[in-house]
Amino acid sequence: MSGGEQNGDESVEHNWPTNLSTLPEEFIVCFWANTEPRDEFTGCTDWRGQYDDEGQPIMHYKGRPVSAVRIAMADVGMPVYEPGMVLKKCRNSRCVDPWHVRWAYEN
Ligand SMILES: [Zn+2]
Repeated sequence: MSGGEQNGDESVEHNWPTNLSTLPEEFIVCFWANTEPRDEFTGCTDWRGQYDDEGQPIMHYKGRPVSAVRIAMADVGMPVYEPGMVLKKCRNSRCVDPWHVRWAYEN
């Protein structure tokens, strides 16, 4: 993998390492340290870390902003290689719960 082409017009959702499944353990620990305990009523796991200009939860990995939701997805073994948009089923912009998201192209 060469890192792919960049067209300069990508949102943070597209700007992430190609293989999040190899994120270092301490980074994953740091990720979960930036979340609130899961809300027992909504099931949401709210983010208390950084947000980008569009209000998306992000972390910085090797100096690049990475979607926090994708880190959560990677951590539970979901495929995160696709560059597509991720939507929140719960419509909670703070939520990074991997079970509350789906790919935009999945109907
Ligand atoms: Zn949620």
